[in-house]
Amino acid sequence: MIYNRCGNSGLLLPALSLGLWQNFGDVDTVANCKSILHIAFDNGITHFDLANNYGPPPGSAETNFGKILKEDFEGYRDELIISSKAGYTMWDGPYGDWGSKKYLVASLNQSLKRMQLDYVDIFYHHRPDPNTPLEETMQALDLIVRQGKALYVGISNYPADKAREAFTILKQLGTPCLIHQPRYSMFDRWVEGGLLDVLEEYGVGCIPFSPLAQGLLTNKYLNGIPEDSRATRNLFLKEADITADKINKVRLLNELAVARNQTLAQLALAWLMKDKRITTVLIGASKPEQVLNSIACLENLHFSTEELNKINSILG
Ligand code: NDP
Repeated sequence: MIYNRCGNSGLLLPALSLGLWQNFGDVDTVANCKSILHIAFDNGITHFDLANNYGPPPGSAETNFGKILKEDFEGYRDELIISSKAGYTMWDGPYGDWGSKKYLVASLNQSLKRMQLDYVDIFYHHRPDPNTPLEETMQALDLIVRQGKALYVGISNYPADKAREAFTILKQLGTPCLIHQPRYSMFDRWVEGGLLDVLEEYGVGCIPFSPLAQGLLTNKYLNGIPEDSRATRNLFLKEADITADKINKVRLLNELAVARNQTLAQLALAWLMKDKRITTVLIGASKPEQVLNSIACLENLHFSTEELNKINSILG
């Protein structure tokens, strides 16, 4: 594993981190969850990313992760970086959603109970809230750190201008923002339009989520939609998203990956890592073999100018 410094902080994060959004809920098998976590940790993935609402049902990924930590990782807490978030709908009534101090503080208390932890390493505000003053949301993050319930804070899904405001407020409060978690892949390059520059300017790390576009940027959908793929299992990757145009791009990218002796998943991950502003790439996995396959991207991180141009022309 390669470990990269997160922005201007003292914290090193593995080049790949593992997210528990999918495949760790009560609908999933505990033995498979355990295998994925073991393979990841044994291969140097020290960072595991959660949120209050991961499951299904919401909360169950944290509960299951907490149980596995107790059973299999007791004694390893100081080798792990564990994150959680609040910002999406979690419970009924006016206090279980968005960005109030009430919601963030209560939600983290619940997350800590579910994971049986005293603190998380990173706590995020999950999405911007247009109706809560940004100062209040950032004060909540600062408070949580001062309470010792999180060591660092981050924001997710914030556009460049809002991120800049958040970083400024957090700096004034004395709790600098550690990291931003945006969606970023070859199929979704919005962060290149300003956000990455803001992160660099403020010394904030970057952890892109859905780097494989939820599995689209792999060879799995080349010949139709296989059973037991995310596109058949849930609503987040719809069959309608897998268009002929996308598959045509995937086919061309796959040819390039094969010429580089890589899988397409490895090419897609290495392509994100070419930018030094990317601290760690946040993968998901439904099987332990996928974690191993993805980690092997580290064996070929170099791109020639010709390859980069070719990728740009395929992506259009
Ligand atoms: P990816 O884009 O990495 O998609 C993961 C899926 O791709 C897997 O479940 C699997 O799909 C397939 N896959 C993974 N590796 C391989 C491989 N080597 N070869 C073939 N197929 C592979 O990421 P996710 O969308 O899962 O997101 C990752 C994490 O990002 C989440 O767990 C979460 O922590 C975070 N996230 C954060 C969000 C936010 O708002 N902050 C939103 C969404 C995610 P299959 O199931 O079909 O096998």
